[in-house]
Amino acid sequence: MSLLDALASIVPPDRLSTQADQLTVAGSDESSHPPCPPQAVVWPETADEIAAIVRACIPSRTPITGRGGGSALEGSAVPAADGIVVDLTRMRRIVQVWADDLQVAVEPGIIYRDLNNELKRHGLFFPPSPGGSSDLATVGGMVATNASGIYSVRYGGTGDYVLALDVVTGTGERVTFGSRAVKRSSGYNMVELMVGSEGTLGLITQLTLRLAGLPEGRRQLAYQFPDAVAAARSVSEIRRYGLDVAALEFLDDSLMRALNRLKGYGLAEVPALFCEIHGPDPVLESTAEMVDGLVDDQGGTALVLADEINPWEVRHWSTEAVKHYLPNHEIIRNDVAFPISSLPEIVAFAHDQATAHDVTLFTFGHVGMGLLHALMLSPRDNASRRRSVEAVNRAIIDEAVRLGGSVSGEHGIGLNLKESFAVEQASALPLMRAIKKQFDPHGIMNPGKIFD
Ligand SMILES: Cc1cc2nc3c(=O)[nH]c(=O)nc-3n(C[C@H](O)[C@H](O)[C@H](O)COP(=O)(O)OP(=O)(O)OC[C@H]3O[C@@H](n4cnc5c(N)ncnc54)[C@H](O)[C@@H]3O)c2cc1C
Repeated sequence: MSLLDALASIVPPDRLSTQADQLTVAGSDESSHPPCPPQAVVWPETADEIAAIVRACIPSRTPITGRGGGSALEGSAVPAADGIVVDLTRMRRIVQVWADDLQVAVEPGIIYRDLNNELKRHGLFFPPSPGGSSDLATVGGMVATNASGIYSVRYGGTGDYVLALDVVTGTGERVTFGSRAVKRSSGYNMVELMVGSEGTLGLITQLTLRLAGLPEGRRQLAYQFPDAVAAARSVSEIRRYGLDVAALEFLDDSLMRALNRLKGYGLAEVPALFCEIHGPDPVLESTAEMVDGLVDDQGGTALVLADEINPWEVRHWSTEAVKHYLPNHEIIRNDVAFPISSLPEIVAFAHDQATAHDVTLFTFGHVGMGLLHALMLSPRDNASRRRSVEAVNRAIIDEAVRLGGSVSGEHGIGLNLKESFAVEQASALPLMRAIKKQFDPHGIMNPGKIFD
């Protein structure tokens, strides 16, 4: 039986497609990696269907790429050649809410924003909001990339919220990892192993998540600075003083310019910090006062936003603003992570490199937890300029690793960052390969991602 016949025997015709337009969509993600349309897309609705699909792919060793919202930024959702895509977006049920335990069980295809809209009525939320992709990213995709977001400064990343996972491995076997216990000392942490595995070990078919209570009050603050390094220093000071901020985002002057150009916000085109504090009124009051003081020490002042503008709406448009800044250019990006005290150094390094090589650079991100996005623009169809931009990108990544950091803080390795990852994790790679082989002896689960 051909693979397509086998798939057709597992799902009804309206959940299997070889139509060119659907293959095109499934062949790319939000990275600038060239698309690779699969031979088919299949939309399972149960874990048993997923297990059967995996088993059907084994005889022909057909690569399988799981797909949620397709919002990945490093090529992790771009299928391997001659592969199939298992699109999980029809598995989007909330299976059960345990409001008293602050827990929820969900299917992997539920979109982050939809889940939180539903959790609101229980006074709960799933915190690691992935910024501009909250309305696209699925919870399964967020676990597979260990996504994080503006509130991760206080609440942590996706991985901090995963209690249990149901998984179909590369042999088509169904396994459950973890439990509803919030703390365990029960052997290997297989849940954590799946977090950030980018679909290379198996497909997640159900998740149990820990949740947080909605905060009693919120206060948003915005500041402007004479230069990017002063803003970065304020961040490490705020963290060093142990101030309990929920969000602490940096936007450099070029990003403010790009946001004005895209949305006409009329923002001061200077480096800025956006901050949010959670808690009861007295906490908001005292923390805001202390943040004001630390910002003042670095020469920062309040940034006045027009009345109707919410800082997070401004921040939401960052990637789009960069995308549309120069016509006929594409984005080369990194999302490095590093110890928080290195923030001023890494920001200065990135800007010095960009100036030295005449590269248009935008830096921003969830800096409060030691993450920075550096986005550069490279003219399309200009190979030599692309090489210079890539060299600047690589230099920033190498510098973050040199400072004790990591290649990726939240977007994953995918196809684009494998080389730098192999350097960062050189001693661990043989064990990682051996682990993959145990989960996926036929090498069919999203091959070519993270490492070769
Ligand atoms: C405008 C914009 C803003 C963004 N902002 C942020 C941000 O602030 N923080 C952040 O962390 N990321 C951000 N991202 C990146 C992206 O949204 C995240 O990586 C997100 O977690 C991907 O989720 P997804 O459902 O789209 O996954 P996809 O892109 O579909 O897939 C990503 C990876 O997960 C695997 N996968 C998907 N579902 C499953 C499953 N059920 N089982 C196993 N593997 C699976 C895929 O095979 C792939 O390897 C942004 C992206 C965009 C376009």
